Amino acid sequence: MLRGRLHILSLVGLVLGIACTEAALATTAIVPRDDEMVVESRAIVIGRVLGLSTSVDVDTDLVYTYTRIAVNTVLKGNVTAREIVLKELGGETRERGTMIFGMPKFEAGQDVLVYLNTWPDGSLRVHQGFLGKFKINRDQVTGRLFVERQLEGENVSIMAGSGNNGTNRSELETYTRRIESLMEANRAKMLAFEQSYYSDVPLLSEPADYHAKEFKDEMTPLWALLNPTTPSRWFEPDSNQPVVFYVNPTGAPSFLQLQEDMQSAMSAWSIGSLRVNYGGTTGGCGVQVADGANTISFNNCDNYFSASQSCSGLLAVSGIVRYMPNQTTTIGGTRYAKAIEANMSFNPYGLCNFTNRCQLQEVVTHEMGHGLGLGHSSDSNATMSGYVHFDNRCASLMPDDAQGINTIYPGGSSVGQLRIMTYDLPAASMDRDYTAHLEASGGMGGYNWRIVSGQMPYGLQLGLSGMLFGKTTASGNHQFVAEVRDLSGNTSQGSFMLVVKQPGLAPAITSIVYKKKKVFLTGDNFEEGAMVYVDGEGLTASLDGSTLKTQKRKQKVGLHFVYVVNPDGKQSGTFQFIVE
Ligand SMILES: [Zn+2]
Repeated sequence: MLRGRLHILSLVGLVLGIACTEAALATTAIVPRDDEMVVESRAIVIGRVLGLSTSVDVDTDLVYTYTRIAVNTVLKGNVTAREIVLKELGGETRERGTMIFGMPKFEAGQDVLVYLNTWPDGSLRVHQGFLGKFKINRDQVTGRLFVERQLEGENVSIMAGSGNNGTNRSELETYTRRIESLMEANRAKMLAFEQSYYSDVPLLSEPADYHAKEFKDEMTPLWALLNPTTPSRWFEPDSNQPVVFYVNPTGAPSFLQLQEDMQSAMSAWSIGSLRVNYGGTTGGCGVQVADGANTISFNNCDNYFSASQSCSGLLAVSGIVRYMPNQTTTIGGTRYAKAIEANMSFNPYGLCNFTNRCQLQEVVTHEMGHGLGLGHSSDSNATMSGYVHFDNRCASLMPDDAQGINTIYPGGSSVGQLRIMTYDLPAASMDRDYTAHLEASGGMGGYNWRIVSGQMPYGLQLGLSGMLFGKTTASGNHQFVAEVRDLSGNTSQGSFMLVVKQPGLAPAITSIVYKKKKVFLTGDNFEEGAMVYVDGEGLTASLDGSTLKTQKRKQKVGLHFVYVVNPDGKQSGTFQFIVE
């Protein structure tokens, strides 16, 4: 039995050049003992591979592969990021290739347990090459999860007699318990190892050069499951029931139209067989308060978010907080546990990041995706990407998001031809916040809107979800053609006229009629939402052309005084009428 510090005897076979894949270099290895792996690694992490990309180092001309991993469980080490990026030597771009035998091979979508150490600059990499990487698989017969070291097909020979030392295959739960007890038994050794080899090396969640790189060879992006080791989903859609969310309005930003904004995210996800409904308001709150209802809240009642003075960090947290692992259903080969409760909680210290409803809608849509079973996508354009876009997408899905949710909730079908349902847009007023929605029906759902000709008045925008929003100083008539596209690429176009009215003109009453307990006023410059004051009492009124019609209110016989106040505060002169 061979033992030693250096487990990989012939370190690497390194071939530099153009697609030199024929090189017959190999790596010889001894499987290290579990306790050696535990002591010598700086971090041990369970997660899902989100994606891989390769890049040539400008100084050395070597190719490096960057592997993004969504962190699910940290068994060891100071890893706090939800995503980490490993940097490994080797890989291939269009022009260059660097071949290393014995480097760990990852595939997007794979669930893995990895032992990690760091390069001198603090970038993470797998400890002991392929030996430190375990794939997590579900046993088809028992349904249990196993970790497995991949020893074949790597141009690697394992020394005879090896393998009696370290675990190559084990049930995941048994293995993680073994790691935990080995950590417990080797605290002093771990500390000494870290101090003598890594005392002044940082541990970076991603290499310092990672974000500056432009990856032209990004592999096919992938949506991901929220919890790859035990995926869960709602069973309601299987019996045509909706998934219902309730909203706690306490602490919500004042610019929100709470129900409308929450509902926009719910309709975005209501594709395929999935229906997400707004259930009304609730007193429930937080993410950790499990009360049986799916809650969206803003008041941090469970103190999940700690105080912060800077406007950065987490915006919101969400997820399926309770599920039943022993109630399962299998969809497309994946076994899902039954989701029982999802909560979404906004960080009150992060609300300063939102300046309009569209931005908040994007985050609600993203977080709701987690509540429906999706994790972070490696498609940077996806709404389920780990990074917020604030690119006027509002509450909308990208194809990758839709593909993900359709995989978890398959079914549903096209309901008739894709059609635009909005014909007339309400008029906007200069310098006043404006919102309107372009609506569509039919097709495959998942509507994305864009302007194909004409222009919106400066300051107003059409969000990808079809929401028109903003504030403009350009009065007049603005014509544009908008196009809606559904998930399968069907499109429909419609022509719209948006009238922006001049502000500041006071309403003026020219005549009054009182009949059937309602006051009818005709005049000029009445605006939608104007209030009619009769003897000082404010009555709501509806506007039809140039006529305001109040709600019903019996007026006494005699003389009455009336004036109108527009929503901008402009007031008409007082007019009189007599009830006989
Ligand atoms: Zn997220």
